[in-house]
Amino acid sequence: MDAYALVLNAGSSSLKFCVYRPAPGAEWAVDTRGQIEGIGTSPRLTVKDGQGQKRYDEKLDPSVGGAHAAIDTLAAWLQSTYAGGRVVGVGHRVVHGGPSHAGPTVLTGDILAELKGLTPLAPLHQPHNLAPIETLLDRMPDVPQVACFDTAFHRGHAPVATVVPLPRALCAGGVERYGFHGISYEYIASVLPEVAPEIADGRVVVAHLGSGASLCGLKGRQSVDTTMSFTAVDGLCMGTRPGALDPGIVLYLFQTLGLSVQQVEDVLYKKSGLLGISGVSNDMRDLLGRPEPDARLAVDYFVYRAAKEIGGMAAALGGIDALVFTAGIGENSAEIRKRISQASAWLGVELDEAANAGNGPRISTPASKVSAWVIPTNEELMIARHTRALLGL
Ligand code: ADP
Repeated sequence: MDAYALVLNAGSSSLKFCVYRPAPGAEWAVDTRGQIEGIGTSPRLTVKDGQGQKRYDEKLDPSVGGAHAAIDTLAAWLQSTYAGGRVVGVGHRVVHGGPSHAGPTVLTGDILAELKGLTPLAPLHQPHNLAPIETLLDRMPDVPQVACFDTAFHRGHAPVATVVPLPRALCAGGVERYGFHGISYEYIASVLPEVAPEIADGRVVVAHLGSGASLCGLKGRQSVDTTMSFTAVDGLCMGTRPGALDPGIVLYLFQTLGLSVQQVEDVLYKKSGLLGISGVSNDMRDLLGRPEPDARLAVDYFVYRAAKEIGGMAAALGGIDALVFTAGIGENSAEIRKRISQASAWLGVELDEAANAGNGPRISTPASKVSAWVIPTNEELMIARHTRALLGL
């Protein structure tokens, strides 16, 4: 391969990547995708081809202990696999674009400095997202890079959906409702005209149900509101995050239980949600097969909260024409889709059980007032599309 483009999604302990073959005038195709996981503990590189067949799986030296070492490892693998190939562009997932980025941007040293300044708004994610950008700007300054933000798609929200009702002075440092999963929602909005033309420009609630979970209300394929807000803790119940929570409980954790800041952070990001309620697992697949009452309560709460928030999102949209399920749980669990759809029957959702069992794409009956759909998301492809457009590839 002469030229290839990379999409990177760097987290705290993993570096996910996709290698695309640029094809002028056509959608890019994935050549390989993989990840370096266990960074800092027991790192491992796994790679699949565009058809999902395993291409490579190897334990790495434990010295691959940080983002820079992970990039070096990936670069070495790319050089041996795509010998003689040239990287024409790199697209990155960056969790926070702050108030000023309503779309993707070509990265420079100045933009990187600006994005580092947003770290207080996303301390657990932003530094990890930015580390490979910094390494590549330093080591391969001629390779153009693009940042795509999880917040960008939501920047058009009305003030009433953005404001946080605390004293204005306390919010001056950027406290507002940003919303996340925007790259996923932008992808879904982009394919609606093709997959579901009859509702594409209507009022659509998209449920991104994965380890992280949120809803986005779309009107005319633009985001009107979303359930995550200042952080990715708000809204729906998630694998290890609680979703919406009375802030008085956080005070109680500090004042009465005497938890430290670090302990409260751990509770909010790593120990709550499905894991917190069930006490046994953060994994929906696992919980659905368990008989323990608390495992069942965790699933019940997940469904209850999602359905309740769908009702709220329908109110924000002034009604609802369609409901779309996506991400790990939304794309794969007919059971959860069925339960959320049944709980949304009052809105006019009538499930077609056979279509739901077959994963759609349309899973509502022809007579259903509100149609329901399963649409697989593809965040990497959305990043690749932006990278291609911004770099003119
Ligand atoms: P993320 O990308 O945020 O890590 P995913 O979108 O991959 O998360 O979703 C992970 C979730 O999807 C897990 O809770 C997993 O159990 C769930 N999941 C995947 N397949 C199924 C399935 N067949 N049935 C139920 N849940 C599933």
